[in-house]
Amino acid sequence: MIDGSSLTVEMEEENSPATAIAPREPPKIQRLEESVVNRIAAGEVIQRPVSAVKELVENSLDADSSSISVVVKDGGLKLIQVSDDGHGIRREDLPILCERHTTSKLTKYEDLFSLSSMGFRGEALASMTYVAHVTVTTITKGQIHGYRVSYRDGVMEHEPKACAAVKGTQIMVENLFYNMTARRKTLQNSADDYGKIVDLLSRMAIHHNNVSFSCRKHGAVKADVHSVMSPSRLDSIRSVYGVSVAKNLMKVEVSSCDPSGCTFDMEGFISNSNYVSKKTILVLFINDRLVECSALKRAIEIVYAATLPKASKPFVYMSINLPREHVDINIHPTKKEVSLLNQEIIIEMIQSEVEVKLRNANDTRTFQEQKVEYIQSTLTSPRSDSTVSPKLSGQKTQKVPVNKMVRTDSSDPAGRLHAFLQPKPHNLPDKVSSLSVVRSSVRQRRNPKETADLSSVQELIAGVDSCCHPGLLETVRNCTYVGMADDVFALVQYNTHLYLANVVNLSKELMYQQTLRRFAHFNAIQLSDPAPLSELILLALKEEDLDPETDKNDDLKERIAEMNTELLKEKAEMLEEYFSVYIDSNGNLSRLPVILDQYTPDMDRVPEFLLCLGNDVEWEDEKSCFQGVSAAIGNFYAMHPPLLPNPSGDGIQFYTKRDGNVEMEDNLDKDLLSDAENAWAQREWSIQHVLFPSMRLFLKPPASMASNGTFVKVASLEKLYKIFERC
Ligand code: ADP
Ligand code: MG
Repeated sequence: MIDGSSLTVEMEEENSPATAIAPREPPKIQRLEESVVNRIAAGEVIQRPVSAVKELVENSLDADSSSISVVVKDGGLKLIQVSDDGHGIRREDLPILCERHTTSKLTKYEDLFSLSSMGFRGEALASMTYVAHVTVTTITKGQIHGYRVSYRDGVMEHEPKACAAVKGTQIMVENLFYNMTARRKTLQNSADDYGKIVDLLSRMAIHHNNVSFSCRKHGAVKADVHSVMSPSRLDSIRSVYGVSVAKNLMKVEVSSCDPSGCTFDMEGFISNSNYVSKKTILVLFINDRLVECSALKRAIEIVYAATLPKASKPFVYMSINLPREHVDINIHPTKKEVSLLNQEIIIEMIQSEVEVKLRNANDTRTFQEQKVEYIQSTLTSPRSDSTVSPKLSGQKTQKVPVNKMVRTDSSDPAGRLHAFLQPKPHNLPDKVSSLSVVRSSVRQRRNPKETADLSSVQELIAGVDSCCHPGLLETVRNCTYVGMADDVFALVQYNTHLYLANVVNLSKELMYQQTLRRFAHFNAIQLSDPAPLSELILLALKEEDLDPETDKNDDLKERIAEMNTELLKEKAEMLEEYFSVYIDSNGNLSRLPVILDQYTPDMDRVPEFLLCLGNDVEWEDEKSCFQGVSAAIGNFYAMHPPLLPNPSGDGIQFYTKRDGNVEMEDNLDKDLLSDAENAWAQREWSIQHVLFPSMRLFLKPPASMASNGTFVKVASLEKLYKIFERC
């Protein structure tokens, strides 16, 4: 075996031709001892104490248990004990119980696709015996006594001993990783796994509500997870996660039975806007397997962030069932991920169902609860502005136009908010505008800053709405992202048409619109190092200057930079309050707004942004000023191609070091290249996972996009079919 150190030495030798050494003989390949193989494999299946608990509990579930209890000592390193009341293990199976690849759940490969048990690899117990001391006590139905036996390295340490036993099986795993010093040390140093174990069992308990679960620390009287068998899932959630979670949940369901392949059904519970938490909890079961799915998690988080901009992260329980042959359960060593057929379509359907549910629920809630907030904000309101339309405040049931959503007159006791207090009209407003209603009003309720009432911002938002092109809106809402066609254009499909869509234009517009919608209600991105304005603006000025003969202008540039810095410092309070762009008194930029969750702008563009704020914003007129700052932010946050050339393609030349005019082979600037690769990969990820999903939810594409090359139709399937027919 080659170890790390010999590898390093070899590389050093290659890099220094002076020490010429005869080429090394190829190392001999040997068969590893079985115990080594097993221990390596075990380290993969049992990565930490919580993975052992998961395997043991799954075995208990597979054994048809109705009660499972777990006891843990020292975060699981000292002891994990899982007891169940399942069918037990036969005496004659005990000798091979802990050998690798012994299982009662699978006999041939094809069984994988019709399997209903959790386990199938016959590896878990074996793995545990290679990294811990395992003792099994079990009794099967009709026996008067049970058996107890201990295992090490896959085999029994002694013949099974008769013993008294209660129904089912108890497995004790002691001294986990006793023979893997490094892992034990890391685990001892990291926060202990007990929290993870509690989390795991809580999740299991709410899904398997026909089984009672308990989990406690060794020696503790009180269990940290305690669920009783209950036919109601909501009851299980209540007993495990508490009343505060259970009372704020709504049921969601969606199913699809498309003969062409996308068949699934999902049911679950999602939190409403009363629920408060800093962390998303997604309890996801696919075909009864507890799994993780970051794409679904993100999709749901995006909807919550969109619908309740200042709201908490959601609690979500979902159980998805698909035909067994559509799920590959065998892609991850601990089975914590699965791969699904039609995953993207399924996620999209779930995402839109969650959105509808949340929106409808919020309509009701917002209408009911605005009153209290309204009174509070009236009392604290320092502003008095008389732009309220008396006609509007007198209206009873008329739908409220989006631009009139926010109260602008604190002197009018009814104010514009009055419109929200009306009972919901019977004919529900159409999907789009009702979503905006909720967004604006929820924001108002959650953060009653007076600033959001500025009518100029409302006018700008109304401008966006009125320029919206209905056909493009339909396309944006329903298109599917295919991939990037080049650095700027993405290929998207809508119905039977393929389009090239300019992601720079689209993202710029989206960011601009979102800046207006989140006006004065941004979360903030804290910069790790405050950035000095004057230096950055100077940098931008130098970059902008194409004339190389400009050294003599340096003074001038410095003066411009100073002036712009002073100007921005003067405007700092406004920039912070309305846009969450924070400039401290020393002229350093230290905070930027979150425009779309999960997205930070390309920091290489900060200089350009600052220059643009200083130069292009018309500060005197309120509306133009807000528009200018929002446009500058929009341009900064847009998904421009990274400044480093794209290394996949001709751009690679940029990373080749040159010696005179001769390209030096194998002499790539590796650091720069890897920076560039990361930047491009990150951007593509953001385009697919942030830009397109957010566009579907928020973008109101202006009519100009239909003609300015932002959307170009490149093919239509009908026409293509016609061409193929002729061939
Ligand atoms: P797998 O679950 O993949 O079959 P394991 O190593 O986890 O592999 O378990 C091996 C076998 O031991 C199982 O197939 C099952 O027959 C038996 N077994 C393990 N735990 C229990 C239990 N708690 N009750 C009954 N049988 C069990
Ligand atoms: Mg198992």
